[in-house]
Amino acid sequence: MTTDRRTQLADNLARVEERISAACAAAGRGREEVTLIVVTKTYPASDVRLLADLGVRHVAENRDQDAAPKAAECSDLPLTWHFVGQLQTNKVRSVVNYADLVHSIDRERLVTSLSAAAVRAGRKLDCLIQVALDAESGERGARGGIAPDGVPALADALAAAEGLRPVGLMTVAPLTGPYEGRARGAFDRLMEIATDLRAVHPAANMVSAGMSADLEEAVAAGATHVRVGSAVLGVRPGLG
Ligand SMILES: *Cc1c(COP(=O)(O)O)cnc(C)c1O
Repeated sequence: MTTDRRTQLADNLARVEERISAACAAAGRGREEVTLIVVTKTYPASDVRLLADLGVRHVAENRDQDAAPKAAECSDLPLTWHFVGQLQTNKVRSVVNYADLVHSIDRERLVTSLSAAAVRAGRKLDCLIQVALDAESGERGARGGIAPDGVPALADALAAAEGLRPVGLMTVAPLTGPYEGRARGAFDRLMEIATDLRAVHPAANMVSAGMSADLEEAVAAGATHVRVGSAVLGVRPGLG
């Protein structure tokens, strides 16, 4: 059973690795410019352990209730943990215990509570601002994220917050609105926002974009990190 699962994960990882390599080659980018983050949400700690053994170094989760026990079970592994889900302020004290990076910063109130929790836990957190490309000015996206014009102020808030630092931007290609079915256009827009951000915060150079269905478009646009779940672990039952 475990051997079968290991082989399955190894095969899937090899296929994803080929896709990333091919996308990098097509874009004239070096393979080392793109980091694979495997999104392990809904899958058990035993899979995380197998992935670590297969060489995966970055994993991501989107729900604290699942992530906290899983990260605790895997604390002996050489992994960097990314939190990529919508984050409630009442979860930040738990998340700061295991997350090394949070990709889903989308409001100042979250910066305030995350900063307080990080200081209290004696941790430093790298933070990405989640951009909702389909959100109107001043609003948030249906799947989280701040409208593009809110990015500068939120980045300044992160830079000023103790225990946190702004390291870049994250997006999910919109399922509706002007970018529906246009992942490449969405990721190109994210890159423009990222360039503006870097002019003010030079260290904020991470661009987290691209999932199982659209990692090629993200790599072509210039993403530095792709977040791949189902292509490695299998299709999740139900919502995840
Ligand atoms: C689930 C998830 C992913 C991975 O999606 P797949 O389609 O399974 O590759 C990436 N990013 C976020 C924010 C997610 O919630």
